[in-house]
Amino acid sequence: MLIGIDWGGTKIEGIALTPDGRELSRLRAETPRHDYEGCLATIASLVEGMEAEAGTRGTVGVGIPGSLEPRSRLGKGASSTWLLGRPVEADLRRALGREVRVENDADCLAASEAVDGAGAGYRVVFAVILGSGAGAGIAIGGRAHHGPNNSAGEWGHNPLPMPDLAEIPGSPCYCGRHGCLETWVSGRAFQADYARHAPPEMAAAATTAPAVIARLRAGDRLAGLVWHRYVDRVARGLSLVVNALDPDIFVMGGGMSNVDELYRDLPPALARYTFSTVFETPILRAAHGDSSGVRGAAWLWRDG
Ligand SMILES: [Zn+2]
Repeated sequence: MLIGIDWGGTKIEGIALTPDGRELSRLRAETPRHDYEGCLATIASLVEGMEAEAGTRGTVGVGIPGSLEPRSRLGKGASSTWLLGRPVEADLRRALGREVRVENDADCLAASEAVDGAGAGYRVVFAVILGSGAGAGIAIGGRAHHGPNNSAGEWGHNPLPMPDLAEIPGSPCYCGRHGCLETWVSGRAFQADYARHAPPEMAAAATTAPAVIARLRAGDRLAGLVWHRYVDRVARGLSLVVNALDPDIFVMGGGMSNVDELYRDLPPALARYTFSTVFETPILRAAHGDSSGVRGAAWLWRDG
């Protein structure tokens, strides 16, 4: 049995898979935000719950919203700042009483979708998470690609390309820079952009990204403007990926990937910004939906 844990900023999800990818059980809990020890305890209880249900012990892979520093193995680049500087692997090993494999959540998404999801059959898969943060992972030939600095896919911490004057310098990012893509294209950034411009009573009624999307669909003009600006920013961000890597497919994950209008509006927006005269790259929603990260985490032990 292969257990995957998706240690997200708002929820922690666990899945138990058979070696051929069949789902045995699934559990989820709210993330104890800013409580690192609480997160470890939540993960231990999810693993315990799934093992009790299956009556067997599993391997455990964990996807984190950040990465591990290649030399020290301490958490870095995590929007869940309570992971920063923590020896995540060692602490999980202690909490779970076994070896644990830890990967960036977007790398888990990329590998999962490349193996048997939307990216199956494509050689270079660029997976994007537009959720409470924003990140990306690259899978080449079905495996997560890292590079010598463990920096592949740190797309969210590039500055927003082609900013207009109102977009400079941008908001501070937890990474210490200003105006990182993550501060523009996360679901939270989308909601915040709406809230900044809406009259107080409308802002108070649209405190989540899905609530703003509901307004968009109801014909709210401000929601329409904010949506098109959001899509334009995602497009500018991905245009530099096309110009640098030109992946065979983009696979979208995270809460904002559930918005159907993204697949209608993003390709033409991207075509305006890429260097090539054509833009024919498929942009697809993660086939395993919100489960891609957790499946990819389980598969960190797929080869034993
Ligand atoms: Zn940043």
